[in-house]
Amino acid sequence: MTAGNEQRRFHGTSVSCRIGETGQLCSSNACAVCCIIKNGYKIFETTNFQRYGRGLYFSSISSKSDDYVKNNSGLNYRVMFLNRVIVGKAYKCTNDYTGLLHPPQGYDSVIGVPDSNGSLNYDEVVLYREDSCIPKYLIAYG
Ligand SMILES: [Zn+2]
Repeated sequence: MTAGNEQRRFHGTSVSCRIGETGQLCSSNACAVCCIIKNGYKIFETTNFQRYGRGLYFSSISSKSDDYVKNNSGLNYRVMFLNRVIVGKAYKCTNDYTGLLHPPQGYDSVIGVPDSNGSLNYDEVVLYREDSCIPKYLIAYG
């Protein structure tokens, strides 16, 4: 285990430009990929369902992250991030734990563990600090 329990995890989000071809950042605030590259990960309030509350979601399974990739620019390929994330001491959950604004007392993160009785299909790690994750690679794939 590395210091801080650093892991590599995937993150899929929306893209509104052709960064996967050009390597050029766009200036659209709607392009989450370019916003993350420019400003890092940001925690937003959202009305979307968040299984483990308001945090930043990553997975070790690229197929899981692919579910969150949204291509808004008519591309014939997709992009997602591979990140360095600091997991620290993780609270493991097999059930939903909505409404969290921070990890449970004494923990640094939450890990969703798939379970035959639960609704989670693949693992997730949820971080509640914006400085605990760094986008390291942007992967373009077909
Ligand atoms: Zn962009």
